[in-house]
Amino acid sequence: MDNSQRVNQADDLSDKGLENVIRRADLRPTQQRIALAHLLFSQGNRHITAEILHGEALDAGVKISLATIYNNLHQFTEAGLLREVVVDASKSYFDTNTEPHHHFFFNEEQRLEDIPSGSIRVENIPDIPEDCEISNVDVIIRLDRR
Ligand SMILES: [Zn+2]
Repeated sequence: MDNSQRVNQADDLSDKGLENVIRRADLRPTQQRIALAHLLFSQGNRHITAEILHGEALDAGVKISLATIYNNLHQFTEAGLLREVVVDASKSYFDTNTEPHHHFFFNEEQRLEDIPSGSIRVENIPDIPEDCEISNVDVIIRLDRR
């Protein structure tokens, strides 16, 4: 995956800076997208669902439908600004950390936490079809509280 579009720590996270990030991703920097980028990227690395982002947007006075939130999250993901982490068929998180890494998932809290890449070694991957290459290996370790 080409991660050249991703938001770097060095990026300016002012509205003007986020406008540039959105332009760099070949998206039109609408006020709505800038507002969403601000919610997504100005608080360090986050794992956020569309529903949570929708709530935050409404709290911030951004009038936007959940469907539009989904569209924007998928556009940001396509552009390499976010990574989608599918926890189960009904639940996706959008991760602002697009570097390769794995996750803990806390079942009760429905919360993802990063596991640094390099701390898990995946071995004995079965043969893959000859016309394929592995694009990514995602590990989600699901945790219950004792
Ligand atoms: Zn993550």
